[in-house]
Amino acid sequence: MNDNLDALFKPRAVALIGASVKELSIGNVIIKNLLHYKFRGPVYPVNPKVDEIRGLKAYPSVMDVPGEVDLAHIVIPPPFVPEEVENCGKKGIKAIIINTAGFKEMGAEGKALEDDFLARARKYGIRIVGPNCQGIINSDPAINAYCNFTFTYPEPGFISVVAQSGGVGAVIMQAFYDMGIGQRMYASNGNGSDVSITEIISYYGKDNKTRAIVLYAESLDDPLEFIAVAKKVTARKPVLAITAGRTEKGAEASRSHIGGLAGSISMDLIYKKAGILTFSSQEDLCQAAVALSSQPVPKGNKVGIITNTGGPSVIAIDELVRCGLEIPPLSEKAAQTLKGSMLESASIRNPLDVVATAGPGHFKSALEVMMKEPQFDNLYLNFVTPPFVDCENVAREIVAAAKAGNKPVICNYMTDKQKWGGTSKILKDGEIPCFDFAETAARALYALVCYNRIRSATEGSIKIFTDVNKDAVRSILENAMSQKREILTAAEVYGILEAYRVPVAPWRVAHDVKEVVAMAGEIGFPVVIKADSEKIIHKSDVGGVAVNIQDAKEVTGVAETMKRNLGDGIKFFVQKFLPKGRELIIGAKAVKGVGHIIMFGLGGIFVEVLKDVSFSISPVSDTEAMELINSVKAAPLIDGFRGEKGINKEKAVEIIRRISMLGTDFPVIRELDLNPLFATGDEICVVDARIIL
Ligand code: ADP
Ligand code: MG
Repeated sequence: MNDNLDALFKPRAVALIGASVKELSIGNVIIKNLLHYKFRGPVYPVNPKVDEIRGLKAYPSVMDVPGEVDLAHIVIPPPFVPEEVENCGKKGIKAIIINTAGFKEMGAEGKALEDDFLARARKYGIRIVGPNCQGIINSDPAINAYCNFTFTYPEPGFISVVAQSGGVGAVIMQAFYDMGIGQRMYASNGNGSDVSITEIISYYGKDNKTRAIVLYAESLDDPLEFIAVAKKVTARKPVLAITAGRTEKGAEASRSHIGGLAGSISMDLIYKKAGILTFSSQEDLCQAAVALSSQPVPKGNKVGIITNTGGPSVIAIDELVRCGLEIPPLSEKAAQTLKGSMLESASIRNPLDVVATAGPGHFKSALEVMMKEPQFDNLYLNFVTPPFVDCENVAREIVAAAKAGNKPVICNYMTDKQKWGGTSKILKDGEIPCFDFAETAARALYALVCYNRIRSATEGSIKIFTDVNKDAVRSILENAMSQKREILTAAEVYGILEAYRVPVAPWRVAHDVKEVVAMAGEIGFPVVIKADSEKIIHKSDVGGVAVNIQDAKEVTGVAETMKRNLGDGIKFFVQKFLPKGRELIIGAKAVKGVGHIIMFGLGGIFVEVLKDVSFSISPVSDTEAMELINSVKAAPLIDGFRGEKGINKEKAVEIIRRISMLGTDFPVIRELDLNPLFATGDEICVVDARIIL
């Protein structure tokens, strides 16, 4: 990773290889954009056939350009690109945006061209953005670089955007523009042959004027590097991402529960591990970015509300509560102060209804008192602009209070923006995030609270258990691999679990009916008998599980029936019958480039029907394991309900951490399924397990 991207984002001169006089061409539009956006340095069109483009002198080759050039666009057809990269190298150009498409994505020929230009770029130390991309924008007035062929000219601001897809990037850029919100930098890197999303995020992270980063990625070349880099950035400033895309294409045919449930893991988990705020709606993301780039990070989730109109605050409260935010009452002292300063008809509580006739003085007092209340971490305003009120001065009071205080202020601003242009401008210049709808404003506030949670969450610790027997596991796995077996036998699976001290129900393996009887005697009745065969995936589906067997006679009957029905080849897995408890599932699945993802959920029918499971990327810390448990929908059942005791969560956390470590230690384990584990009283114990290599 090399995040020194100054030549790309702060070019002092730009050349355009493939510049064109045709107005409807990329080679012309980029020049137009650079000129319209008032790029601070020289622009050099390169075209051997013309003398002038848009009033600028054109040069036959980039090597004929007189001055130094930091950045070049290449917009010519793919076969000519490698040679131009070579020329750029000779010219001393440090960064190239290849807008042209038609490389790796087109097959072997395109791939060869891409390898060719990359090798030449490396030779000269040139960084490449693209191919098949838009490029960059930097709105810093000292730079004004619009090295891009799109059409939105962002105002300077504090939000930086990086999008793999130029289409999504352009939509987001336009959305901020329409909201009157400035932007700092923009990049769309298309195929990402060289400069990566990770490097751009890191670069934005170090840019002082970038206060929030918006990200759209469909895939990542190196998710672990991304996580490590993004984690450092999210500790300092918020990163917001749209969840789309998968690390793996489609759900693969599965032989285990985790395989089916985690068939394709979305970017969600990677983002979560990196502390990135995720959104499924682009609109929500943009609104949250406005709040996050202008307001301080709140200390908690408690909200004080000021309104001058009833209904919108009711809607706001519904949404705030739905998001899990709290609306505590006013303190006695605050209520007393407000009684003296508010209008007679005001409603002195939280929400504080100052009523529609409230003027600047009433707002000033309301804002001051609410800002000082220690039980509020955030201020939420419903502000409608009554034609009989001095709204501009109300807006000034809002801005002044936000500046003076250290709590976020979010505003549901209801007005005709044309007629109340003065008021709108005061709020905008004062960086008060304003939203048309109450629920939108509430969700933007929620994003601030979420970011605080991310920033203040303790990372937790990754435990290295020293009481495990790695050698035992290694020899089991090596033996299975030497026999080219992918599915481990029950004895192997339980051997591995015991070596990692995961509690399992007492067990034996028997090869014939007589042995089953003896083993059952050793374990002690009641027992469970299961068919043990590589060919049987769901044992109970084929009559391969018999539970609660009371004596030797019953053992013989069951074993003989299984043998008759399932074939002579089967072995018998004899297990202690455990009293029914809460059934849990824990799993691990190897994901390319990521390591293992770890799954937790309620087992039994809940898994199949409700798919109520949660995932985390290994290694799983104690806090992440606890969050896995607490984030399933059925968490209240796990905590205990209607007098029934909850499960021992500490034990569950330990098992999750041990399984996480097992996966990390033995990457060859492709899928591991513990389903179910029985949680009875204080104990948690595996009664069925499966491992696939
Ligand atoms: P499979 O999942 O292959 O069908 P399991 O070993 O999970 O087979 O057994 C099916 C069900 O039988 C379990 O979900 C559990 O409810 C019950 N069961 C399995 N083993 C035991 C046991 N040792 N004690 C009590 N019940 C068990
Ligand atoms: Mg099972």
